[in-house]
Amino acid sequence: MKDSLKVYNTLTRKKEIFEPLHAPFVGMYVCGPTVYSEVHLGNSRTFISFDIIYRYLMHLKYKVRYVRNITDAGHLENDADQGEDKISKKARLDELEPMEIVQKYTLDFHHVLQLFNNLPPNIEPTATGHIIEQISMVEAILKKNLAYESNGSIYFDVDAFNQEFDNDYGKLSGRNIEELISNTRDLDGQGEKRNPADFALWKKASPEHIMRWKSPWGDGFPGWHMECSVMSSKYLGKQFDIHGGGMDLKFPHHECEIAQNKATYGKKDPVKYWLHANMLTLNGQKMSKSTGNTLLPNELFSGENDKLSRAFSPMVVRFFMLQAHYRSTLDLSDSALLAAEKGFAKLMAASELVDKLKPKSESSVDIEAWINKCYSAMNDDFNTPILIAHLFDAVKIINSVQANLESLNTSDLEKLQSKFKSFIFDILGLKNEEQKEGNDALLNGVINTLIELRQQAKLKKDWASADLIRIELAKLHVVLKDTKEGTTWTLEK
Ligand code: AMP
Ligand code: ZN
Repeated sequence: MKDSLKVYNTLTRKKEIFEPLHAPFVGMYVCGPTVYSEVHLGNSRTFISFDIIYRYLMHLKYKVRYVRNITDAGHLENDADQGEDKISKKARLDELEPMEIVQKYTLDFHHVLQLFNNLPPNIEPTATGHIIEQISMVEAILKKNLAYESNGSIYFDVDAFNQEFDNDYGKLSGRNIEELISNTRDLDGQGEKRNPADFALWKKASPEHIMRWKSPWGDGFPGWHMECSVMSSKYLGKQFDIHGGGMDLKFPHHECEIAQNKATYGKKDPVKYWLHANMLTLNGQKMSKSTGNTLLPNELFSGENDKLSRAFSPMVVRFFMLQAHYRSTLDLSDSALLAAEKGFAKLMAASELVDKLKPKSESSVDIEAWINKCYSAMNDDFNTPILIAHLFDAVKIINSVQANLESLNTSDLEKLQSKFKSFIFDILGLKNEEQKEGNDALLNGVINTLIELRQQAKLKKDWASADLIRIELAKLHVVLKDTKEGTTWTLEK
């Protein structure tokens, strides 16, 4: 009997049995990047953590709708209610349109996550694509008297909300209001708020603010937390199963999201399970765009950086990240990456060897017990480091069977082959990079042989064969180009 999936819920601070609201459907919303600069390895870690969760839920046969947004407006400097919009600022510095900044870094984000072999979400909505819905939600909150207008901006009234909703604001992050108020600096414009703990739902745009929209309160732009409340409820419903993001988003971002959703839709918890991924550190300090303590994925893959001794491949980095539990911090260092590289190579070698093993009449190893241990690890709040330890137990079994020290019957061998590869490739989302390079070389060799055969056919004036080779390759999107130096080919998709 396999045990059931348990997840650690930040809201209750407990591991809970995962019971979706409408099984077999699961709605999962994860806060996406603010696309004003290259995605760094810390951001990548959070998205890899949720990729594992997405993959495992699908492996358990849940029908998952995974929504991950792109923040392309409304996120102000220092995550505050004052200051310049992060995207507008970058656009001003680079002398580009804000939407050029958004496009550039959205493409970079997708490219990096593809290198890490992350699956794309089912819906990737943008803040700027949902301004009308954000204005409607602000209107709904105003109508309930849980927000107020001040000088063309709309603020959420935290005190009024707490009176009506059993002091709910602060529950997710465990902060109390007095502490919040005493820690809030007296920033410019703070005077517009009735209470320093209040936060912006809609901000009036100053004349120089470029990203602005018409609203019932004049030209402005949405507060940062609005987009996630709107897009999660629009695509997943007023109540949904999982909301994720990095730990640093618990407060104020997720706390404000809960308050906005409850103010709009009523007392029921909008999200059943809040999941938070922990931070990647570099030299013991949080990796962060704002402090400059960052390493970009491409700097790691190319080796062009002053922090590590040499380059590491995307799969080695992914494997390195999965060796820590998603709720633990993880420090990036040369020695840890070198060790991960060795471990990853062993795992890949075993994944090739396992298919070559021959069955015997009897099994000397309990494969069912091994499979159950792997599932127990993943069912225990997606414990990838424990799963990886079990995968290395399987590497030992595979090597022992190969050396005739252990044996597996046909059925056990088939189970080991299928589960070992399924855990590595489908659930952990790793891939064999050497195999891909090998495949590229093979493809090159096969096409060049066909080009040579076509050349010989032409010399014999066998035009029919020469054309056949060209036409058949074109059907596979392989386009041949005859030049003075010879024939070249490209793959055109
Ligand atoms: P941002 O683009 O700053 O909005 O961040 C995108 C995601 O990356 C959020 O879920 C953050 O919590 C997460 N994040 C930011 N820094 C780190 C870090 N050093 N380690 C892990 N996740 C991070
Ligand atoms: Zn968000």
